[in-house]
Amino acid sequence: MATAPLEDQRRLLDVQALDTRVQQLAHQRKNLPALARLTELDGRIADLRASLVESRTRVADLRRELTKAESDVEQVRNRADRDQKRLDSGGVGAKDAVALTDELRSLAARQAALEEVELDVMERLEAHEEALSTVEAANGELVAEKAKVEAERDAGWAEIDAQIQAIAGERAKAVDGLDAALVTLYEKIRVQQGGTGAALLNGNRCDGCRMDLPPADLATIRSAAPDAVVRCEECGRILVRVAGAKTGAAAG
Ligand SMILES: [Zn+2]
Repeated sequence: MATAPLEDQRRLLDVQALDTRVQQLAHQRKNLPALARLTELDGRIADLRASLVESRTRVADLRRELTKAESDVEQVRNRADRDQKRLDSGGVGAKDAVALTDELRSLAARQAALEEVELDVMERLEAHEEALSTVEAANGELVAEKAKVEAERDAGWAEIDAQIQAIAGERAKAVDGLDAALVTLYEKIRVQQGGTGAALLNGNRCDGCRMDLPPADLATIRSAAPDAVVRCEECGRILVRVAGAKTGAAAG
């Protein structure tokens, strides 16, 4: 059976308390409420992404369509202006004047039709720009909210990290000078047992696994030398005997 000074065994419980605290803080760090909210926000931003891309594409297409419609109208208008100037100059013969007048009439009809197309595109563009600005606004709100929650997360992490760092300092002091083999054994069991390597023998109970020890085991433990490192038969943890630790924990 391994041995270590009883005082070292008792101090191991202080180390254990600090390690448990760090484990709780690490758990908190991984489960900050801000993290769940960020996952939710990322999901909503991703959901909105498709609408945003579609809406932006639609508006860009309509802007191009409008430019084309405006240029079509412009061409016809320029042509009509030229015809009108020639006609007004008085320098054309009667036959040409008739031809120009006919053309002006048909250009006017063409311009009216093209202006209707232009108007239709403008109306559709306006509707889509409005839809886009709604989606952009919703997206902007989500992005701003995300930045806010990220800052909350970072502040939460920084606070926890400062606590972990402070505990690391305390732990270094707590473990300083302890029996090296005892610490090594403790570390090994701690890894195997999900974070708890040493537990108080609390009356008849192991505080690690919360099982009552069989009378035969208890008798062995009680008769063991003070510096004997005793282990719980159930969970294998180092059982630390502390004077006065009797029935601290209620049964169940
Ligand atoms: Zn146990």
